Amino acid sequence: MTARIIDGKAIAADLRVKVAGEVRRLAKQHGVTPGLAVVLAGNNPASESYVGSKAKATLETGMRSFDHRLPDTVSQDELLALVGRLNADPEVHGILVQLPLPPQVDAQAVLNAIDPAKDVDGFHPVNAGRLATGLNALTPCTPLGCIMLAKTVHDSLAGLEAVVVGRSNIVGKPVAQLLLAENATVTVTHSRTRDLPDMCRRADLLIAAIGRPEMVRGDWIKPGATVIDVGINRVQTAGGKSRLVGDVAFAEAVAVAGAITPVPGGVGPMTIACLMVNTVRAACAIAGLPKPSV
Ligand code: NDP
Repeated sequence: MTARIIDGKAIAADLRVKVAGEVRRLAKQHGVTPGLAVVLAGNNPASESYVGSKAKATLETGMRSFDHRLPDTVSQDELLALVGRLNADPEVHGILVQLPLPPQVDAQAVLNAIDPAKDVDGFHPVNAGRLATGLNALTPCTPLGCIMLAKTVHDSLAGLEAVVVGRSNIVGKPVAQLLLAENATVTVTHSRTRDLPDMCRRADLLIAAIGRPEMVRGDWIKPGATVIDVGINRVQTAGGKSRLVGDVAFAEAVAVAGAITPVPGGVGPMTIACLMVNTVRAACAIAGLPKPSV
């Protein structure tokens, strides 16, 4: 058996087209153009590349993009003042502060200063709490993308045995909350879990968000299961080059699973597309309009 490959790149491209349609409709019917402000402090190359891709996707979907680049010497007060200005700016519906922040800045204090209504990363404790209590929330983008990908395989996630490996605030915990909201039966595992392979073998839906290259082996997977691989790990190859691999040993898993996301081209592209979705959702909520169709 060979698993169906879940084409995250194509699914994300479709989603961005739908977002662009909603952006056009909002402008035409309500005179609202969603705007996303991205704050980057310092010149971490990976962060610069993410921020560039986010700005490009924002403009391509017809939204406004506001880039704020600050030196790595920026003080916490300066960052808080910028967040305060963006909170008050009516053209800005989403605020994203790119992590990591320089060491002199308390990142959590900066994230906590973002207006929860504009918190398109979904990291604010108010949004995390709203998600956990089943209220309407802006939810973190990568977990949202994982659920959308799983739903391309399963019409409903209700009753599925879902196992999440990883419990970070960015991926593991919010994806577990979203799965619960979809009525899956959820197990969250982590570095202190006993017999992880056995836990994983229970899963109809396995979500790996660990940060360990190819840790999940083929014999950890129940035949026919759906596997969503969040991991992005750069490893050295024999020729001295490097390549990206996920947290799942893809070549082994593809022979056992029913459906699986590749790395790259699986969860990664969905993250930015879901940021666009969150910005449109935030703009509608702020303008007092009904939820968009994305
Ligand atoms: P974190 O390092 O914050 O969390 C990793 C989690 O994995 C922790 O809960 C940790 O457990 C658990 N873990 C680590 N080692 C083991 C082990 N040996 N056995 C079981 N569990 C283990 O990572 P993130 O959640 O931020 O990211 C996870 C991966 O997803 C990374 O590869 C990252 O690059 C990728 N990622 C991809 C994104 C995308 O857009 N596709 C976006 C965000 C992340 P414990 O809590 O006990 O320490």
